[in-house]
Amino acid sequence: MSNLYQIAIDGPAAAGKSTVAKLTAKRLGAFYVNTGEMYRTIAWASLKEGIDVVNAPEKVEAALKRWTMTFQNDGKGEIDIIFNGHPVVKAELRTAEVAMASSNVAKIPAVRTWMLQKQRDCRLLGTIIMEGRDICTVVLPDATAKFFITATPEERARRRFAQSGEIAPGATIQSVAAEIAERDRQDENRPIAPLKPSPDATVIFTDGMTPEQVTDKVIAVFKEKAQL
Ligand code: C5P
Repeated sequence: MSNLYQIAIDGPAAAGKSTVAKLTAKRLGAFYVNTGEMYRTIAWASLKEGIDVVNAPEKVEAALKRWTMTFQNDGKGEIDIIFNGHPVVKAELRTAEVAMASSNVAKIPAVRTWMLQKQRDCRLLGTIIMEGRDICTVVLPDATAKFFITATPEERARRRFAQSGEIAPGATIQSVAAEIAERDRQDENRPIAPLKPSPDATVIFTDGMTPEQVTDKVIAVFKEKAQL
């Protein structure tokens, strides 16, 4: 591919967006950009500083003036997040506590404003597959191809439960389903950049599909849109 393209993917929690975005990036030789990790980094840093992200959003906003976040090509088709000069340890972002806090910081208007241009600048890396909640609607409205990837709440809870890491000790599939539902409810109902399918996105309902099948569909639609 000689031109630069952007593929935008939105969808609710644990819908398989990351798996598909990674596979797509690999097959196209493009960069995979996970914007959820950027919000998780703000949540992680806030928790580390003891900031109450629900009741003291002004403290998060004040901290943004001190914090820096840049992205670096990791040489393997993904990006490293450099927070305050140090690469973020991504495993530390994958806890149930950080997940819920990330949805809380993502509601804060100043956080979204702080993030927007940084995310748009990722286009300079090359062809990118960017996933999140508002990529089609806000971050990359002119993306070459747009997708909304989703699955039933039961299927998403099953998928998240099957992953290690983000599951709190003692969690059950019911508690994981409740955590996902609460995060989606909050993401769908916030006033700024809520989670919703962009009218021009291809919706892929992934129950019963393998990640490879979803990736095939994403690549087929992308090639058609890019006229490749
Ligand atoms: O994708 P992930 O589950 O890691 O995202 C964590 C949280 O970050 C989401 O629940 C959402 O509140 C927020 N987010 C967002 N906009 C994005 C990506 C993530 O608000 N583009």
